[in-house]
Amino acid sequence: MKAISVLGSTGSIGTQTLEIVQDFPDQFRVVALTAGRNLPLLVEQIQRHSPEVVALADDSLLKGLEERLNSLPADQQPQRQPELVGGPGGLNVAASWDTADLVVTGIVGCAGLLPTLAAIRAGKDLALANKETLIAAGPVVLPELKKSGSRLLPADSEHSAIFQCLQGTPWADNARLSTGVPTPGLRRIQLTASGGAFRDWAAADLEKASVADATSHPNWSMGRKITVDSASLMNKGLEVIEAHYLFGLDYDHIEIVIHPQSIIHSMIELADSSVLAQLGWPDMKLPILYCMSWPSRLETPWRRLNLTEVGQLTFNEPDPAKYPCMQLAYAAGRAGGTMPAVLNAANEEAVAQFLEERIHFLDIPDLIETVCERHQSDRTDQPQLDDVLAVDQWARIAVREQVDRGTRRLPLTAMAA
Ligand code: NAD
Ligand code: MG
Repeated sequence: MKAISVLGSTGSIGTQTLEIVQDFPDQFRVVALTAGRNLPLLVEQIQRHSPEVVALADDSLLKGLEERLNSLPADQQPQRQPELVGGPGGLNVAASWDTADLVVTGIVGCAGLLPTLAAIRAGKDLALANKETLIAAGPVVLPELKKSGSRLLPADSEHSAIFQCLQGTPWADNARLSTGVPTPGLRRIQLTASGGAFRDWAAADLEKASVADATSHPNWSMGRKITVDSASLMNKGLEVIEAHYLFGLDYDHIEIVIHPQSIIHSMIELADSSVLAQLGWPDMKLPILYCMSWPSRLETPWRRLNLTEVGQLTFNEPDPAKYPCMQLAYAAGRAGGTMPAVLNAANEEAVAQFLEERIHFLDIPDLIETVCERHQSDRTDQPQLDDVLAVDQWARIAVREQVDRGTRRLPLTAMAA
């Protein structure tokens, strides 16, 4: 039985991870859960999984959680009363919980950084969904992994695809994963992108993009932030940086290809020119399960891929004019040091402002570009954790100040009028 901790248990990744635990009761048990604000769902999860510890990001909600648990009828009480902890310290306690074998990181954004580091420092293996952590703090996270011996297993579907393909290359030593050292024999990565919500929109029409438009993804059902990132292709840009840190390739050898069917989850090219791909229906449960069962594979009752049903697999190059976020991510990745942390934080803040309808969709890349340019002269090459946390805060404030001063685009309400 593998003991699993789920950070961000009430989100899209978190709930899917818990469904897997339920589907394989002989293989996995839950020892720790952490969540943001969704107490009703968290209580249900505690009832079902009886974790040893539960952490809330906001410790002012702890009392409410305790009351909800105490008021459950006797026959609906969890098998054990979990230890309840809160705030940043509480998240770290849950992330480094002694009995856990694997920590699934389903917190969204750089808020996942400190719990992820706590898990690594405790020597836990990680299923990394929370890509923002590695993107913002690659130069901090990689040496910590080396020191503790923790392994970073990619739960992001593209990186899982690459990882799965690499299992078939005898000279790519699995244990070298995510040390930032080039993977032997790996020459090129092609990350596939669905194209997101605006795949079939003309670039000129993006002026009219609303929050509802940007949060409806054609192929995947995910949290709101990553769905907007998919619409802007920032998600794929972030995944380029994620792939750089996980597999050690330079940016000239990590490419993006639009593949609207989302059946091929990514491809690798090897030294002899052979290309390997991993295929499957677009369903995050498979990459999450693979992290949980690795290096084994479990028999599942899941729907089998039928390519004749799919009919066609098509591919095209992404249009850089339509997706400026993609170029911004490559530039930040190439600049390295603290720049990816600034890119990530500016994006998180800009997306939050967009979701609150304070800015236009097309303001997102403008704001990120301005903030990254301003950071140019302050960039640190080999950042420590404090440097990453400082630039993360600075970039968020810089975006908010810029929004308060006004953006180049018309506000949505003015456009609608
Ligand atoms: P989500 O918004 O559905 O869930 C986020 C979870 O984090 C929730 O449990 C929430 O309560 C918690 N949370 C939010 N803010 C927090 C904070 N400040 N401190 C602590 N906890 C907080 O997000 P998601 O779609 O599940 O994505 C989670 C991560 O996985 C992201 O980094 C995303 O990029 C990555 N990812 C998601 C998918 C997907 O299919 N959803 C696919 C690939 C990668
Ligand atoms: Mg992905």
